[in-house]
Amino acid sequence: MEKLWCLFVRNKILIYLQYFFTREFFSVIIDKWQIIMIIERKQTMQKYDVIVVGAGNGGLSAATYLATEGKKVLVLEKHNLPGGCATSFVRGNYEFEATLHELCQFGTGEGEGKRGAVRQVVEDKYHLDVEWMSANESFAAVSTGEGGFNVAMPAGVQNFIDEMEKAVPGSRESMTTVMELGRMLVDGVEWLFERHNEPTPPQKVEMLLKYYDLMCLVPQPCDAMLRKIGVPDKARNIFESYWTYVACDSTEMSFAPYVFMTYVYLTQLPWFAKNRSHEISLAYDAKIRELGGDIWYNTEVTKIDIKDGSVKGVEIKGGQYIACDWVISNLMPHVVFDRLVDAKEVPEYDRKKMNAQRLAQAAFTVYLGLDASAEEIGLKNYDTFMRYNPDNHEQWKSSNSIDTHKDITVTNICAANPDAAGEGRAFLQFSKFYDGDAFENVTEEEYFQLKDKIARECVERYEEVTGCKLQGHIEEIVVASPMTWARYLGTPKGDVYGYYPRLWDGMFPRVQCGHKEDYTIHGLRFVGGHGTQMDGYSQAYLSGAEQARYMLLDMKKEGK
Ligand SMILES: Cc1cc2nc3c(=O)[nH]c(=O)nc-3n(C[C@H](O)[C@H](O)[C@H](O)COP(=O)(O)OP(=O)(O)OC[C@H]3O[C@@H](n4cnc5c(N)ncnc54)[C@H](O)[C@@H]3O)c2cc1C
Repeated sequence: MEKLWCLFVRNKILIYLQYFFTREFFSVIIDKWQIIMIIERKQTMQKYDVIVVGAGNGGLSAATYLATEGKKVLVLEKHNLPGGCATSFVRGNYEFEATLHELCQFGTGEGEGKRGAVRQVVEDKYHLDVEWMSANESFAAVSTGEGGFNVAMPAGVQNFIDEMEKAVPGSRESMTTVMELGRMLVDGVEWLFERHNEPTPPQKVEMLLKYYDLMCLVPQPCDAMLRKIGVPDKARNIFESYWTYVACDSTEMSFAPYVFMTYVYLTQLPWFAKNRSHEISLAYDAKIRELGGDIWYNTEVTKIDIKDGSVKGVEIKGGQYIACDWVISNLMPHVVFDRLVDAKEVPEYDRKKMNAQRLAQAAFTVYLGLDASAEEIGLKNYDTFMRYNPDNHEQWKSSNSIDTHKDITVTNICAANPDAAGEGRAFLQFSKFYDGDAFENVTEEEYFQLKDKIARECVERYEEVTGCKLQGHIEEIVVASPMTWARYLGTPKGDVYGYYPRLWDGMFPRVQCGHKEDYTIHGLRFVGGHGTQMDGYSQAYLSGAEQARYMLLDMKKEGK
């Protein structure tokens, strides 16, 4: 009997041991572990309503908007500071502005211009603490090729028309028509903005009656429309000088956003932050924290977890998983869908859209710290477009190669903020914007020499055109190539302007689709210079506010 009992016990032990080492046992353990994970995720979910990936202009604006509406946000940024493009850096005695020369739609509402939409967001809603300044001029444009010009265009609509008439006699009537259309476009865009770009059906009728021309102008290329209006060639070339800032060939860019932007700059002026754009980014950081949000720096997002068409959370470098149903991406769809989302979870629509869209421009920038004041050196004008061929389409065609693209944009911050570099010092910045992958065939051995060569070309070209002597005054020089921008921002090929805004993919079509059709993954929205409003600071701030608002509506619909 005792023997039988021993056998029974031994068999039981064996069965338990077997069970311990079988799949069933492990599946029970895994199930338990998953339950613990789910509980943990739920706890994290309760902690953050929305995760914002990237603390560039769009991400910071979206996070601030959501925080002002009482949502608990977490911003994840791979760098040790906020801003993305909106930053500064120090070399020796100089704190260089990395990017911001002209903030659009920032009028105070005094004088000729309206209170800009961006000021309404940044000041009236977010109450950011920033010292703002403006440049009281439009742009200077120099073209040294045949049929070229050398003009300094003032701010103010009438001043601009008068100056154009001086440079191109006989342009007054056609330029007045262009400006009248500009006024109508600004009114129309504002009317739409007040209705969150989503007029109700009766409002749509009102819109058709009031702003019929606006809708007609959206599919018209800028160049063709200016020709139709009868703007003389030289005046057209001068007027289209801003094309680089829209990152689009003037024969393909829509008349409506281009003329809108120009009219806004003329009436509301270009704005910037007195203490560099880093000041704006820091003000955002402070506001988000004040409103109860968190920002984690040095935190690279390696995965946005999508399952069955919905956001589940994000994973950060090092493996930590943060569950969340709502994510705003400041990273462009190309980056998110190529690198951060499981390939099988990328919806067909997004894949097709991504393939249809084209990257915009990559930047090459040269920053000079000069050991004499702007006045002593003779630096003039705030923003100058310095080009060879006066024809904008030809300029665009050359901009896809290092060899052919010799045009530069020059920014002299001290023209508007004489104390920016400190007493007896000045800044000068050259920017070149390449369409396409201009550095594609550059080898590692050639790279540094090439950077130096292009920087030298910029300096010599500026000296030749203006007669100013820069060499001998250069105390600091910093050069950033498309590779630098690609590494810093994480964008493909150093793209800094998002997507090329073609007629079918410009500001108006994007804004119209921005709410409904464009977002196929539940809980995921995109903000930034690649977003609905096109590239630039103002556009990134507006797209952040716009998409945050849409996300709040989505949440409300679901009772969250
Ligand atoms: C030389 C130059 C001059 C310019 N001048 C002007 C101007 O005068 N006026 C104007 O309006 N615009 C200007 N622009 C354009 C403007 O700066 C950009 O359009 C705008 O700032 C883009 O903002 P964004 O929201 O898309 O963010 P980005 O600046 O692209 O920032 C994205 C952020 O995401 C972070 N990030 C990337 N990957 C990850 C990851 N995996 N995990 C976490 N974080 C990540 C990046 O570090 C970065 O902080 C200029 C640009 C350049 C390059």
